[in-house]
Amino acid sequence: MGEAHYLEHEVHGWAARDSSGVLSPFKFSRRATGPRDVTFQILYCGICHSDLHQIRNEWQTSKYPMVPGHELVGIVTEVGPEVRQHKVGDHVGVGCMVGSCQNCDSCEKGAEQYCEHVTWTYNDIDHDGKPTYGGFSALMVCDERFVLQIPKSLPLDAAALLLCAGITVYSPLRYFGINEAGKSLGVVGLGGLGHMAVKFGKAFGMNVTVISTSPSKEEEARLILNADNFLVSKNDQQMKKAVKTLDYIIDTVSAKHELEPLLSLLKVNGKLVLVGGPEEPLQLNPFAILFGRKTVAGSTIGGIKETQDMLDFCGVHNLISTIETIPFEYVNKAMDRLAKSDVKYRFVIDVANTL
Ligand code: NAP
Ligand code: ZN
Repeated sequence: MGEAHYLEHEVHGWAARDSSGVLSPFKFSRRATGPRDVTFQILYCGICHSDLHQIRNEWQTSKYPMVPGHELVGIVTEVGPEVRQHKVGDHVGVGCMVGSCQNCDSCEKGAEQYCEHVTWTYNDIDHDGKPTYGGFSALMVCDERFVLQIPKSLPLDAAALLLCAGITVYSPLRYFGINEAGKSLGVVGLGGLGHMAVKFGKAFGMNVTVISTSPSKEEEARLILNADNFLVSKNDQQMKKAVKTLDYIIDTVSAKHELEPLLSLLKVNGKLVLVGGPEEPLQLNPFAILFGRKTVAGSTIGGIKETQDMLDFCGVHNLISTIETIPFEYVNKAMDRLAKSDVKYRFVIDVANTL
């Protein structure tokens, strides 16, 4: 076991300085490895659309300098003396959270993401009063309770996005019972979250329909992701033909869009779960859900235990994501492409080799 040392860690990373969102090299320090801390070298970090919303202050809560990144994975280099669940050499990851109160209703139910005092991985203040910085950086120090084990059977680069995109779709699919073999699932938006929803839907034995604005994504959706159907949401004819054909929909869209055409695809008692975070509110016409007793719900990432369960599920089913690996020098270009939905299906930064 590695020993705790008492010096702060000097860390290189990339940060946004203002709402232009432009990222550039940035040096900062992380706390010395504490008794319950795990320190790991970050090898890869996924780029979530939330990172893009945040560096550009689209949710109006951004603080700068901001080191984004909440899909970080790597190898443990040091653990504090009280750490029990992780050891040097383990493959580990951290998602969107690095702390919570540990004794509220949500924490007790394993839903730390809904704790009033949750500490987010970046753009937040840690318990020591210092800003939190995310995974666009060389090294992480984190309370062991928020560190996840990545099954060694999974490649680390393609596993990174499970820490946010993976759990964000897995959690509501399980919670709302959207995992019944033979039922039909619509996935709206084929980006990072959406492509994982297709993979989980297929792993649960469901009939999966992708609903996309990008006709160019159809061939690979069918061939590589094994989607059963593909609807172009702007094609009225296709959409009309599919009315009342779906049991469930998960909506991962990152921008303002119409809900009514999507709700019309649901059968009676159908459920639509929103996980996307557009910067503007969406409109809901009550009549689109009154007739047919439909449900519209929402969900944020998932709890720590549930995230570990999801990682283990992916390990057993060898379920990994489809990614485009990039060097840090490409990160600003990648953000511009992400804004245009031009990625199949997640950018992952090769942190260790390009910092
Ligand atoms: P992403 O890779 O950019 O995927 C979003 C997809 O939405 C795009 O690929 C595109 O798919 C579709 N889309 C984009 N603009 C659209 C528009 N104007 N109208 C209709 N469809 C549009 O993003 P992501 O990383 O998957 O994240 C998706 C959203 O979820 C973001 O808002 C993010 O902040 C949010 N999020 C929420 C949570 C949570 O806990 N709830 C966690 C992570 C992320 P097509 O090309 O197929 O149309
Ligand atoms: Zn995310």
